Amino acid sequence: MSSAIWTESLSIPVIAEYDVCVVGGGVAGVAAALASAREGAKTCLIEKEYALGGLATLGLVVIYLPLCDGRGRQVISGISEELLKTSLKYAPGNLPACWANPDGDPEARKNARYRTNFEAAPFMIALEELLRDAGVTLMYDSRFCGVRRTGRHIDGVILENKSGRVGVGARMVVDASGDADVCFAAGEKTVSSPANVCTGWYFSQGKDGVQLRIVSDSIHGEIPAGHRYYAGDRHDDVTAHAIDGRRMIMEDVMKRRAAGDEGLYPLMIPTYDGMRMTRRLSGAYELDESEAFVDFEDSVGMTGDWRRPGPVFALPWRTLVGTENDNIAASGRCISVTTDMWDITRVIPTAAVTGQAAGLGAALAARQGIGLNELSVNRLQAALRQNGVIIEKP
Ligand SMILES: Cc1cc2nc3c(=O)[nH]c(=O)nc-3n(C[C@H](O)[C@H](O)[C@H](O)COP(=O)(O)OP(=O)(O)OC[C@H]3O[C@@H](n4cnc5c(N)ncnc54)[C@H](O)[C@@H]3O)c2cc1C
Repeated sequence: MSSAIWTESLSIPVIAEYDVCVVGGGVAGVAAALASAREGAKTCLIEKEYALGGLATLGLVVIYLPLCDGRGRQVISGISEELLKTSLKYAPGNLPACWANPDGDPEARKNARYRTNFEAAPFMIALEELLRDAGVTLMYDSRFCGVRRTGRHIDGVILENKSGRVGVGARMVVDASGDADVCFAAGEKTVSSPANVCTGWYFSQGKDGVQLRIVSDSIHGEIPAGHRYYAGDRHDDVTAHAIDGRRMIMEDVMKRRAAGDEGLYPLMIPTYDGMRMTRRLSGAYELDESEAFVDFEDSVGMTGDWRRPGPVFALPWRTLVGTENDNIAASGRCISVTTDMWDITRVIPTAAVTGQAAGLGAALAARQGIGLNELSVNRLQAALRQNGVIIEKP
């Protein structure tokens, strides 16, 4: 067979037009779609799976990392805080009492971070309810696979689903795919990370009941001999990671059986591949870990560092917007940051912060009929503040 297959040129039906089209229904995409729809924009969310939450739910990453700086100060609010509470709507977590209570003890808050564990299934359902109530059009089982551009403008996105290959017209596009799929397809500069380790978070059923088991090669250190790293931006790499992750889960199961829990078995395994940093936008600015406590004039949100108390970062609007198109914003795992900073911004609470900023910015620009690069950051900041978002360090 020759090294390329040519298809005949296809006429793809455009099934709908939206002000804001969000690609990816992880935490970032949910926040973006909510922010956009609540601002009055006609909004759709395109998701290749059949449920919302991405890594947080289908990936079984069931820990909502902190909204505080670890020194007792809350640095994340807005939709990210709303989603943390949504994760506890139908099942209890372990949110410290000092944070659960709005008038919680300030001294206790210095020693307990504003974070919680949650259950995946109730969170998925509660997220769907939120988007339904906000009037977002959900498109499940729809995989983004291309853009239609005119010059520096994305006219719409191309999807594949049960209807075949279809187009969706969009005035603004938010890339919440986690892997910068839209940025990549639209010709934005992107960077891939070949440094993902093998992971296999799962729930087991055994003599101690149902337990979350975290099996993973070291995140930051050396990996065991014979193991490898994965990039996650190629099909063979993604498949290898999924298979190796399941092998790792079964090794853990067998080890526990041999240690006396003979009946233990995997009750639930991730149905979404657990890679942390795959591909991201390389935009007009790449935020770095060395920039803690720096004030940025175009800050659209804040984050702490989930790994240690102290550092607080402002998140510049420039880390979200594309440079090669006038109507694309990245959010969540795939914003424009350096590799060191990536490890800080990729987590659930921060993904929701950048999702809200991207969605709200897109809705405001769509309403004004301007490009995201022309949007007044002051105006966006005012709208974010009005929606309860913290954009300056406390
Ligand atoms: C092993 C592991 C452990 C982690 N532990 C934690 C933790 O304890 N706490 C924490 O806060 N964070 C943790 N994280 C990080 C965190 O879970 C994610 O980075 C965060 O949830 C990212 O959200 P997101 O919305 O940006 O991306 P994702 O959750 O990846 O969501 C992207 C969504 O887009 C969809 N999508 C992708 N491509 C397409 C396409 N082409 N077309 C249509 N849809 C598409 C996906 O199906 C998915 O729903 C962990 C990550 C990993 C991998």
